[in-house]
Amino acid sequence: MAEFTMELNEEQREVRDWLHGFAADVIRPAAAEWDEREETPWPVIQEAAKVGIYSLDFYAQQYFDPTGLGIPMAMEELFWGDAGIALSIVGTGLAAVGVLANGTEEQIGTWIPQMYGDQNDVKVAAFCSSEPDAGSDVASMRTRAVYDEAKDEWVINGTKTWATNGGIANVHVVVAVVDPELGSKGHASFIVPPGTPGLSQGQKFKKHGIRASHTAEVILDNVRVPGSCLLGGKEKLDERLARAREKAKKGGERVKNAAMATFEASRPAVGAMAVGTARAAYEVALDYATTREQFGRPIIDNQGVAFQLADMRTQIDAARLLVWRASWMAVNGKPFTAAEGSMSKLFASETAKKVTAQAIQILGGNGYTREYPVERMHRDAAIYTIFEGTSEIQRLVIARTLSGMPIR
Ligand SMILES: Cc1cc2nc3c(=O)[nH]c(=O)nc-3n(C[C@H](O)[C@H](O)[C@H](O)COP(=O)(O)OP(=O)(O)OC[C@H]3O[C@@H](n4cnc5c(N)ncnc54)[C@H](O)[C@@H]3O)c2cc1C
Repeated sequence: MAEFTMELNEEQREVRDWLHGFAADVIRPAAAEWDEREETPWPVIQEAAKVGIYSLDFYAQQYFDPTGLGIPMAMEELFWGDAGIALSIVGTGLAAVGVLANGTEEQIGTWIPQMYGDQNDVKVAAFCSSEPDAGSDVASMRTRAVYDEAKDEWVINGTKTWATNGGIANVHVVVAVVDPELGSKGHASFIVPPGTPGLSQGQKFKKHGIRASHTAEVILDNVRVPGSCLLGGKEKLDERLARAREKAKKGGERVKNAAMATFEASRPAVGAMAVGTARAAYEVALDYATTREQFGRPIIDNQGVAFQLADMRTQIDAARLLVWRASWMAVNGKPFTAAEGSMSKLFASETAKKVTAQAIQILGGNGYTREYPVERMHRDAAIYTIFEGTSEIQRLVIARTLSGMPIR
């Protein structure tokens, strides 16, 4: 087990500085343009692919860093650059992790390269779980996958929504119901290969923030995929369903499901994105407060401004520590007995919302315009309290974990 340390080692510092350079030189200068265009920043993704940031290898390297700090450090730097562009760069990772977590070696080898494409022809991937009537309440998912034994094919029907890269992805990973009796335990994930008939993009959403990241509905109309596209394979699914049915028969047994453990491990990464956005806004505010003069002195000379900055920085550092703790726990297989992963996401995302609002206040009228980046950062920050489980759901998970009670 890696010792917990608050100091990055030499290799991590090198990677951090390299990412920071990319965020400062390539991502940040492009942020306002792609926010206005509300389009996927393909040229920036391509740049990221060229230098090796947009690749499975890079994420795998960070993911397997034994200190657990590789991913949060990478997320913080990229999202410091710009949240919308960074999400376009890391969004494919969400689908890739779905395959890595549940797929066979053959599926990983076949599909993950197609998710990223190559530096001359970059591709993206989408992870489609949410539905119009199944957001926080994942168990009420309706998209159905039925096995056609004669053809060894799965037939998928339903409507997914809010899918990052939905419809523009080369590879879609779709979660669907295979046994409606079993609630969320009756779900399975499928690869929908490029060009599969029946999959189409529905509405593309015009959003409040992270506008450089494409978010859309995905319609699945009699989509047929080969049996080999069921992640993990049929045998494993049948075994898992049999176990779930057995447990359901015994009645009411509270099962700590594997999905919850996965969320605890993945949520700190979202917390780290929020820390990146919060830090970016704080830095702009600090710089502005020391240079902007009113009443013949820099505005930071006033405690009313200086104390805000002191609180902002304190909260950002506290958020980072919660994120690092949870990431270290995840990589070292520590049980999340107090839902520490959810805690880190909750605190960091609420901090990002608060800090970016304070940054607007410190910049006064300038903060409210698109001449300065903090209004964009504030719009972007609002997503962190919504996706990967809203703040209310994080509180629910934490409270249930602490109390052992089925709090509603
Ligand atoms: C930009 C963006 C990108 C996204 N990307 C993806 C993606 O790539 N793939 C994907 O599958 N999904 C994605 N999502 C979906 C996201 O995960 C959901 O929006 C989120 O889970 C919330 O679901 P909902 O929007 O249906 O809200 P709802 O679940 O309808 O919640 C509405 C409100 O009710 C509250 N609420 C609900 N239940 C409870 C409760 N039990 N107790 C207290 N409060 C409660 C919520 O906290 C929230 O405030 C994305 C969303 C957005 C906006």
